[in-house]
Amino acid sequence: MRKPIIAGNWKLNKTPHEAILLVDELKRQLVDVTGVDVVLCPPFVDLTDVSDALVDHEIALGAQNLFWEDAGAFTGEISAPMLKSFDCNYVIIGHSERRQIFNETNHLINLKVKNAVKNNLFVILCVGETIEQREEKIHKKIVDEQVTLCLRDLSKEDAGKNIIIAYEPVWAIGTGKTATPEQANEMHIGIRKSLENIFGKDIAEGIRILYGGSVNEKNSAEIFAKSDIDGGLIGGASLKSDNFTSIVKSAI
Ligand code: PEP
Repeated sequence: MRKPIIAGNWKLNKTPHEAILLVDELKRQLVDVTGVDVVLCPPFVDLTDVSDALVDHEIALGAQNLFWEDAGAFTGEISAPMLKSFDCNYVIIGHSERRQIFNETNHLINLKVKNAVKNNLFVILCVGETIEQREEKIHKKIVDEQVTLCLRDLSKEDAGKNIIIAYEPVWAIGTGKTATPEQANEMHIGIRKSLENIFGKDIAEGIRILYGGSVNEKNSAEIFAKSDIDGGLIGGASLKSDNFTSIVKSAI
C-alpha cells in the first residue's frame, strides 16, 4: 500500500513574510490530518523561515531545484548539502518549466537526480508530454524515455527509497485544463511499467507516482481515487491554505 503524498510547488511566489503566513495557516488547518505525506516547496529564499516554522511539525520541506555538484564555482546555483542544512529533505527535479525555459535535458536532470540521491534527498522527478507530442501520439514513448534517461545508473535500492515521480502533462500545467482521471491513470500505469522494466516489479510497485496539472479542490478527489495515482504535485492551488488543505484531505 503506497502512502499518498501531496506536494505544493510554490514556484516564484511568496516572500519570506508571505510564506510564514501561509505556513502558519496550513499548520493550523492540517493539525489532525494523518495518513498522507505533505511537502511544501517554497522558493530558496524562504527556506530558512519555512524550515524554522516547520520544526516539530509533520509537514516536510522541499526545494524546487538543485545543482548536480555539492560545491564549487557555479554562480547562482544551490547544492544538496545546502538544502539539507535547512532540513529540506525533498527536491523537485526536471519540472517542465525548467525543461522549457532553462533548457534542462534528460541528461542534465539525470545528473541532478544522482546527486540528490547521493545526498539522501527524496526526489520528485517530473515527466510529461507537450500537447504536440500527445497529438502526434508519441506521448507514451516520450514519457518512457524521460523516466528511463532521468533515472539512468540509479540502483534499485536508491530508486525504491528516494524516488517519487510526478506525471505532469505540460498542456495541463497552469492552464486550468486537467487530464481526465482516466487519461492520467493510463499514463501512470505506463510509467509504472517503465519503472518495472528498469528496477523490477517489487520496486516499481512501491514507487509513488503523483499527478500534476491544474489540480484543485474540486477535481482532486476523483483524480486521487484512481489505482495508480498516489497523490499530487500542486502548483497554483498550493498558494491558498484552504484550497491546499482540501486537496490534502481528499488524498486520504
Ligand atoms: C506544477 O507547477 O507542478 C503544477 C502542477 O502547476 P498547476 O497546479 O498550477 O497546474
